[in-house]
Amino acid sequence: MPTLDLALDQQKYLLDTVAARLLRYQEDLAAGKYPASYLHHPDGAHDADGKLIGALLREDDVPQHGTSLEVLLSEIFDRAMTNGMIHPHPGFMAHVPSGGLFQAAVGEFISRTLNRFPGAWAASPGFTQIETNVIKWFCSMLGYGTGSFGYLTTGGSIANFMAMRCALAQVGEAAQQRATIYVSSQGHFSVAKAARMAGIPGDRVRSIAVNRDYTIDLDELRRAVNHDIDRGYIPACVVGTAGTTNTGAVDDLVQLADFCSRYGIWLHADACFGGFFRLTGRGRALLEGSGQADSIAVDAHKSLFLPHGISALLVKDQSRLKVAFEIGGAAYVPELSDDDNFVDFCNYGPELTREARGLTAWLPIKLHGIKAFERCLDEKLDLADDLADRLAHLDAITVVDRGKPHLPTVGFGVRSDNRTEQARRNERLAELINSRGSVYLSTTTLPEEGLVVRSCIMHHQTDKVVIDQLLEDVTWSLGKL
Ligand SMILES: *Cc1c(COP(=O)(O)O)cnc(C)c1O
Repeated sequence: MPTLDLALDQQKYLLDTVAARLLRYQEDLAAGKYPASYLHHPDGAHDADGKLIGALLREDDVPQHGTSLEVLLSEIFDRAMTNGMIHPHPGFMAHVPSGGLFQAAVGEFISRTLNRFPGAWAASPGFTQIETNVIKWFCSMLGYGTGSFGYLTTGGSIANFMAMRCALAQVGEAAQQRATIYVSSQGHFSVAKAARMAGIPGDRVRSIAVNRDYTIDLDELRRAVNHDIDRGYIPACVVGTAGTTNTGAVDDLVQLADFCSRYGIWLHADACFGGFFRLTGRGRALLEGSGQADSIAVDAHKSLFLPHGISALLVKDQSRLKVAFEIGGAAYVPELSDDDNFVDFCNYGPELTREARGLTAWLPIKLHGIKAFERCLDEKLDLADDLADRLAHLDAITVVDRGKPHLPTVGFGVRSDNRTEQARRNERLAELINSRGSVYLSTTTLPEEGLVVRSCIMHHQTDKVVIDQLLEDVTWSLGKL
């Protein structure tokens, strides 16, 4: 009879074989054997080839018998890996990159192997404490003081969703039928999704116009809120974006906090992109006021360089999470804690059974100390400033105006009064740059500038060599355009 149990020597074989394969992959990645993306890359899989790979991997029938590890590893590394975009590539600058620190993956692996239960404190006081430490560190990094707390989530979208629940808990059940949400037109689409999941349909999510620098227009916000109050709506939440995905613009959180406190509206800071830059001097200036927000969503898988799947919703007042999420009364759950210093996470968020998430952030932060992260973030800010300056010196290129300080996104491209022509040429420019395989950039469309090429420097390994390469690729591409 086959058994699911692995003997210790089998476990060791599994670990050693996987470790060898992973290390080979890391070596190949560092040696440039993978392109930053296979899309637009001459010898790689395009969209159509991605579908071919999907067809090759497709398996409708549940496997009845075992397959050897070697075959399976080949399926992962030779087939599933070699297409699409390579987010862990140091030249990946599209969207919001996440290199994913290896140390964090090891932390998660330990956590999964130990498989403890963090839903109730009594089941795992040690790992609950480690997760609590991480949350408290995040709170202090984002400018919160005593009394603040949070919950580790798998992503910023879930953190934004939790924030909506907290905001709606504040206006009360009855008022929710008239509740409205406010976010700038440059805000992230996950806010509208979060609102919908929390029971607020799209027609009660107000899109507020932005200033020329793409931050929320406070006069427009005030007008929209007053207009809604006059019509009997109940403004429940203003979302300030601390780092828009498009340009890295940071809404004025100090002014937003002042506005929201006067109206008694929950202020949520969507700092998914920019949050941890507050560790740096420039970031602190940009994110001034974050500590005044009622809640903050922040992605450790973005500005803390961790692998995908770790974010947080932080709240200024710990009790607000319990108000929003505590149900209580499940007799089969281990006895719950009545001390707010020793929390039952099932009362602080939507989940019960889940992995202990703390180690993913705890291991790298403890191994290196937070100063190492601060330095790395500062380096990204320097690289982006340097890139913007050097691009601006290229004759054909216009760089999207960046206030200083600024998060590490740089928009650029050729300029034309004919917007359709400009869009066509910048799409082509991005394609040409990407076809070389060293870097991968995306494009975005801005209200003022039209379609531009966009780079976001956020991978822990992106360095001066990569930026030099990018500039060389831009120059080469301009010659072909
Ligand atoms: C990435 C991002 C989100 C969504 O976070 P996920 O972790 O991708 O779910 C929300 N808001 C902003 C500003 C972001 O950059």
